[in-house]
Amino acid sequence: MLSADIQHAVPQIDGTPEQQEAMTALHHEFNVTTQRARTIVQQFVEEMEKGLDHEGATVPMIPSFVTGRPTGQEKGKYLALDLGGTNLRVCEFELKGDGDFSVHQQKYVVAEELKTGDMRHLCDFIADCVDNFITEFGSHHVDHSIQLGFTFSFAVNQTDINRGTLMHWTKGFNCTNAIHKDVVVLLQDAFLRKNVQVHVAALVNDTVGTLMANAYRYPKTSMGIILGTGTNAAYYEKLGKIKKWKGAEQVFDEMVINMEWGTFDLERRVLPFTIYDNKLDRESINPRKQLFEKMISGMYLGEITRNVILQLVDERILFSGESSADLNKQWGFETAYLSTMVVDDTPQLDHVRHILEETLQIPSTTHGDRQVVKEIAIAVGRRAARLSACGVAGVLLHTGDIHTGADIAIDGSVYEHFPHFEKYMVETLQELYGQDIANQVRFSLARDGSGFGAAMIAMMAHKASLAKQA
Ligand code: ADP
Ligand code: MG
Repeated sequence: MLSADIQHAVPQIDGTPEQQEAMTALHHEFNVTTQRARTIVQQFVEEMEKGLDHEGATVPMIPSFVTGRPTGQEKGKYLALDLGGTNLRVCEFELKGDGDFSVHQQKYVVAEELKTGDMRHLCDFIADCVDNFITEFGSHHVDHSIQLGFTFSFAVNQTDINRGTLMHWTKGFNCTNAIHKDVVVLLQDAFLRKNVQVHVAALVNDTVGTLMANAYRYPKTSMGIILGTGTNAAYYEKLGKIKKWKGAEQVFDEMVINMEWGTFDLERRVLPFTIYDNKLDRESINPRKQLFEKMISGMYLGEITRNVILQLVDERILFSGESSADLNKQWGFETAYLSTMVVDDTPQLDHVRHILEETLQIPSTTHGDRQVVKEIAIAVGRRAARLSACGVAGVLLHTGDIHTGADIAIDGSVYEHFPHFEKYMVETLQELYGQDIANQVRFSLARDGSGFGAAMIAMMAHKASLAKQA
């Protein structure tokens, strides 16, 4: 079997011997060897099983209450709301069957004071946006109550398809009167107060939405992954394997599980932590939490890179020992810079130079400096991709899909824009299981799929509730 560990040689730099030496050391430190990957996958499978067995496990494995699979033939108009980043998106999807759909959407900026104020004000704002959207852009709905799927990408303890209590805030949100409350009830109350004729039919995590959106076109899709600001995954699980499930009499045999996999290895058993990861974690607002996420997702990769660069500056290996105010600032190095640097093929690495000297105001850089920084960016991104692949492998091994192949939907800027991210994932799977098996795992980009997925889940929930009434 080909080993990418061997293929992926230590980069040769035409800088100083000290730079070459530092580069070789970093290359090894950030390399997830095939052996290490195997250990991580094994631990992943164990953690999944614990999470399915009982509440309070490291990887929570939250039942999503999404049970069916779309056929691609679904039809109708449904609304979706997407909250969880800078913007609030309101969309109206028309499902046309044959995997086809059209969409109208509108973005609304969520003001900073709303993100940290009373939850009631945030819900009133959302209701106003939905009202505005329906008036301005919405088309005529056949029956009067409009069904809506709500993508709410925070940690929620889901208790039904449209019920769930907020566990804690992340990503700059910190509204009062929300923790331990049912977010659907809070939003539905705001619709009632404003007399907006909308019914929240489904509460959806973005991983679950991404999975379902892709399944509309490719019904065999069994897993959805987010590789954006954060990272997380969802997949179809056999009900019999969800040991902790205590739901009433069941008429289905599988359910989508929202893994919340960013929590993996809280116990620090298997992940290859470096001093740069430890520094990032210690200085973060959630130390000792989300450790897997902190090695993989967009919020953190720039900061890890910044930590490495600063260490080399302090050792006088980079930039003649000179930093800058911008580079010294926590979170001052954006993850998007990594992608720009890695694709820079100009002889003098002009784009790397631009970021370092113009954007970050480092007084001067040599060609060797720029090569080192580019190689650090590759090492940090490649490690993120290899660790993501370990998560995928863990899920496929657990479900048995590793033997039959799988369609996997992925959304997020890191996967979409970091050069060769997918290739690095595939290489890792090849090292672990061989070419034939790796080739049967198909990744597809499902950009902003979660809104569409939420609309579809709203449709499925609505149909199920009509069937129950009949
Ligand atoms: P979200 O996860 O909030 O839905 P995205 O999927 O766009 O949004 O992910 C945003 C994250 O991706 C940010 O952390 C940002 O730093 C990172 N990012 C943005 N552009 C790029 C890029 N070109 N290459 C790598 N990462 C990027
Ligand atoms: Mg997104």
